[in-house]
Amino acid sequence: MLNTIIKERSWVEVDLSAFRDNLNFLKKRMQAQQSFLMIVKADAYGHGASEISRVAIEAGAVYLGVANPEEGKLLRIQSCHAPILVLSPSLPNEIPTIINNSLTPSVSDLAFASALSKAAVKLDKLVNIHLKVDTGMHRSGVFESDFMALYTAVAKLPKLVIEGVFSHFASSESDPPFCNEQEDSFNKLIRELPEAPKYIHIDNSNAVLNGLGASSNLVRLGILAYGVNTSLQSLPLQPVMTFKASLSQVKQMKKGDTIGYNRAWTAPKDGKYGIIPIGYADGYDYLLSNCGVVLINSGSKSNPKETQQHLCKVIGRISMDMITVDLSDVPSVAIGDVVTLLGDTEPQLRAENLVANYGGNPYELLCQIGRRAKRHYYSGAKLQHSSPLSRRDFVPDDFNDSKLNHIIESAISQRLQSVEIGELIYREILRSFFYNKDRDIHYRYNFHHEIAFTESLYSGYFAAHTTLYFDKILQNDYFIVACAASDEVLQRYIKRSDVEYRWLMDDAFKLDSESFVVSSVMLDNLVLKTEIQHSKDCLEIRCSHPKLKQLVGKMAHFTINTQTVYPKNSHQLSVFITELTRGVYISFRYPPEMSKVECVPVFSGQDKFPSISQQAGIIEVGSKPEEWIFPISGIVFSY
Ligand SMILES: *Cc1c(COP(=O)(O)O)cnc(C)c1O
Repeated sequence: MLNTIIKERSWVEVDLSAFRDNLNFLKKRMQAQQSFLMIVKADAYGHGASEISRVAIEAGAVYLGVANPEEGKLLRIQSCHAPILVLSPSLPNEIPTIINNSLTPSVSDLAFASALSKAAVKLDKLVNIHLKVDTGMHRSGVFESDFMALYTAVAKLPKLVIEGVFSHFASSESDPPFCNEQEDSFNKLIRELPEAPKYIHIDNSNAVLNGLGASSNLVRLGILAYGVNTSLQSLPLQPVMTFKASLSQVKQMKKGDTIGYNRAWTAPKDGKYGIIPIGYADGYDYLLSNCGVVLINSGSKSNPKETQQHLCKVIGRISMDMITVDLSDVPSVAIGDVVTLLGDTEPQLRAENLVANYGGNPYELLCQIGRRAKRHYYSGAKLQHSSPLSRRDFVPDDFNDSKLNHIIESAISQRLQSVEIGELIYREILRSFFYNKDRDIHYRYNFHHEIAFTESLYSGYFAAHTTLYFDKILQNDYFIVACAASDEVLQRYIKRSDVEYRWLMDDAFKLDSESFVVSSVMLDNLVLKTEIQHSKDCLEIRCSHPKLKQLVGKMAHFTINTQTVYPKNSHQLSVFITELTRGVYISFRYPPEMSKVECVPVFSGQDKFPSISQQAGIIEVGSKPEEWIFPISGIVFSY
């Protein structure tokens, strides 16, 4: 049971520990050769696809399953790199989304496969596909009789890789003879293939439980992993989702009073009833009218241990935004008491039992419930993360500082060792950059910084040549390249937004227009004019061109070349990333006399560990081209 501290109008608690336990239980039921694909379609059955995917992958999932390419794309935006299968058939206009996001489509007809192959050839990308065969479900998939022809034709299409073949049971929980027929047909088709694909799969969660599809090597886990027992057996599964709300009003009723729309319920005796501020618009099904049941946690506010739990009946019709419950038998009940509507350990509130009251479907209930609620993710009793209300538009308050603080706190408590926390920080910082502070925040991309040290005429110093180029929206009709003689002055330049490049001059060296030379500055193909302003502790080079006025606000390619010096006895060179940057490449060339050069990247962002390659005389450090790197990142080269 989770420690509830949240009291919103309504909210969803997602218990990631319960999810892990359920997965462990199901993994024990899998065959030795089987791995699993986690089904995260429909936002992971309403639990949050991003969070569920992360935990599933940690628990060993080798694949994720979504309903359509958009769901897959969203996961990619949320930094999910795992293979993703699109379960239902895709449409031709979704092909670009599939290829650009490296999704694996299900394929059941040749026309789609041909269009996919053409697009893949054009983009020069290999696309993994899974062929779907209909062995009796009679929904999507190619008929068994047409399967071999499809397989043969698709195998010939360029740039497509048949990575998997799969089918789906029509009633894996309850109809063993039909399941066996489907499985036999499937196995027969697989045996006829000239070459076994990497993944062969037919099982959903109940099929795993019932030992079906034992010769396949991948299973697709869904409902049972979410702790909803749709099987006919009793199982040690725990609900992952709990939906709660705060009691918002308590009223008296007299014998004979009717409650709500159409006067659908009449009080049999005097008593009291309560209003809970959720209705069918929150996904609490209309069919629960007069037959739902909720759990009221009432009692001592000061001592939660004295809290009592009472099951109460839903009385009257479910409204769009409210329901009414009978509180006559609850002795001390008050506004603000926590009401559990779904999930938790109370058997009557488990999705599979609640839907039995109205002949509903537990999958549907999970997908729809809590639509207007925030989700709070717990691991054990500890709150890990909260996700904002899903709205069609962005509301800055959704990403407030306290949320960021919470994440930073938990990151520190885990000493940044966990990839998951790193990802969270990355996503939250990115969000607050883009949404909270300034939607038009400028960033650099394709950032290249090449530094080369060679022997110089000055004893005790290397000559340093730097080449910098990147793309960025031009903000003014000029920009500054600065060379500072002290850390303090450098800091001042870091704060200025019109400075595109800074260098720190060794304080023992005379700073003048010969010791720091901007050899060329270009914007796109324009060679810029440079004007030098020299003061005691800095050298400012103003770069401009009459044509820049027209380019302000447009994306431009900046190139800056400099020649300067660097003290030999410093033994280290730091390169800072001072702006939000997408895609970083930094290289350091050094003369043979410098032995034992090492580099330590200090990257904050999506990936804290960029790739580093070192050959004689050069170290190169690079992020993936699409990766975001935050300011206050950098690299230290030591020699
Ligand atoms: C949704 C889905 C599953 C998961 O089924 P559960 O019953 O939730 O385990 C498996 N396979 C396919 C193709 C699906 O669409």
